[in-house]
Amino acid sequence: MTNPNQIPSYQGSMLMIVAPSGAGKSSLVDALLKDDPGLKLSLSTTTRAPRPGEVDGKNYRFVSKEEFIRERDQNLFLEWAEVHGHFYGTSKPWIESQMEAGSDVMLEIDWQGAQQIRQLIPSVQWIFIFPPSIAALEERLRKRGQDDEATIQRRLAAAHVELQHAHEADFIVVNDSFEQALMDLQHILASSRLRSGPSMARNPALLKRLGV
Ligand code: GDP
Ligand code: ADP
Ligand code: 5GP
Repeated sequence: MTNPNQIPSYQGSMLMIVAPSGAGKSSLVDALLKDDPGLKLSLSTTTRAPRPGEVDGKNYRFVSKEEFIRERDQNLFLEWAEVHGHFYGTSKPWIESQMEAGSDVMLEIDWQGAQQIRQLIPSVQWIFIFPPSIAALEERLRKRGQDDEATIQRRLAAAHVELQHAHEADFIVVNDSFEQALMDLQHILASSRLRSGPSMARNPALLKRLGV
C-alpha cells in the first residue's frame, strides 16, 4: 500500500512544451534557458536532417534511421514518435539521471510523446503554445526560412492535428507578444517549482522540524 505521507523523491520539476511547428517553442525555450541556468533542456534524438545552422549535440542528436531503430530496440528512449515523417525520441538514461539529481527539466516534444511521458511521469506539467492565428503560423514558418515549400505545407497540415490536443495540456500560452509569452512561461516554471511534491522533497529538514 502507498503511504499517503510519503515524500515524493523527485525534487525537480518536469515541463513539456508542445506546439505546432512555427508557434515559437524553440525561440521561447531558448530565451527561458538563458534566464534560468537551473533549467535543463532534454536533447532529443532525431532522424531528420539538420537545418542550416543546426548543430549536432546542441539542437538535436542527429542519427540515421538504422541507428535510431537500434537505440529504440535497446530501450534507450523514454518515449519516441514519428513526426512529419521522421523519428524523434527522448533519451531515457539522461532523463533518469536528471530526475535522480533533482534537476528541473524541459522537454520539447510532440503530442504523441507528451501522452507517453504523462503515463510514465504523472507529475509532469504539459504546456501548449498557441500561435495567434494560422496565418501567423504560416508567416513564421516562411520567415524562419529553413524549410522548403513541401516541408512547410506538411507542417501546416500537421498543425491542425497538433492543435486538437491542446485540451490535454495543463497550461496554454499564446505566443502573440513574445515578451508576454516568455513571462507566462517563467510564471509556470516558478509555480511548478512551488508544487507541494517538489517543495516537500526539497525541504526534508523543515518538514521534520515542523512535524509534517
Ligand atoms: P519545430 O516543430 O519547428 O520545432 O520542428 P522540430 O523538427 O524541431 O520538431 C518536430 C516535432 O518533433 C515537434 O512536434 C517536436 O515537438 C517533436 N519532437 C522533438 N523532439 C522530440 C522527442 O524527443 N520526442 C518526441 N516524441 N517528439 C519530439
Ligand atoms: P517552433 O520551435 O515552434 O517551430 P520557432 O521558435 O522556430 O518555432 O519560431 C518560428 C519562427 O517564428 C522563428 O523565426 C521565430 O523567430 C518566430 N517567432 C517566434 N515567436 C514569435 C512572436 N511572438 N512573434 C513573431 N515571430 C515569432
Ligand atoms: P522539427 O523537425 O521542426 O525540429 O520538430 C518537429 C516536431 O518534432 C516538433 O513538434 C517537435 O516538438 C517534435 N519533437 C522534437 N523532438 C522530439 C522528441 O524527442 N520526441 C517527440 N515525441 N517529438 C519531438
